[in-house]
Amino acid sequence: MALDDHIERILWTENEISIRVSELASQISIDFKEFPSPVVVVGVATGAFLFLADLAKKIKLPIVVDLIRVESYGSGTESSGSPKISSDVKVDIRGKHVIVVEDIVDTGNTLCCVISHMQSKGALSVSVCAFLDKPARQKSHFELVGEGKFYRGFECPDYFVVGYGMDFAELYRNLPYVGILKPELYQ
Ligand code: 5GP
Ligand code: MG
Ligand code: MG
Repeated sequence: MALDDHIERILWTENEISIRVSELASQISIDFKEFPSPVVVVGVATGAFLFLADLAKKIKLPIVVDLIRVESYGSGTESSGSPKISSDVKVDIRGKHVIVVEDIVDTGNTLCCVISHMQSKGALSVSVCAFLDKPARQKSHFELVGEGKFYRGFECPDYFVVGYGMDFAELYRNLPYVGILKPELYQ
């Protein structure tokens, strides 16, 4: 079966995503242009890899890019509830403005974990740029740090979505759009 045939329905096309990512990058470029030191953009691996790449290319400021790895989901569709940082950032973020780039905010547990970790490492401010946000599911309330801002690509309905970096059992990350799998594939 070809990759596209695994998808029941597309929620955001490649073109819609591209337009929205440009808008987010423009807003970030405006909001951070007065800061004297380069902003540190921290992608949450692996899900944010395509969003991070597209966003970073469109930010018209000198930035530092790094990755953090957080494990919480396993291979299923339900969060384990206690995310753990399994690979930390390499750059020194003490006194820096940080933007955490996430693929999707579901329970908010991952963001809580990453934000407090950045704060404990001495970040001056922590912002979040989430490609998708599932408001129906939010459980843990996260506080941004300092003058931190929250950026969101799209509000996501309460489905388990795949594509544009997001996986089911490590597959489908390479889809250039976001969609829902055919129900038989979630078994
Ligand atoms: P949270 O900690 O907010 O519950 O979940 C965050 C992580 O769970 C996301 O970064 C993402 O990796 C994964 N996740 C949450 N919802 C979805 C979804 O609908 N589809 C996929 N593929 N991953 C999801
Ligand atoms: Mg993620
Ligand atoms: Mg996953």
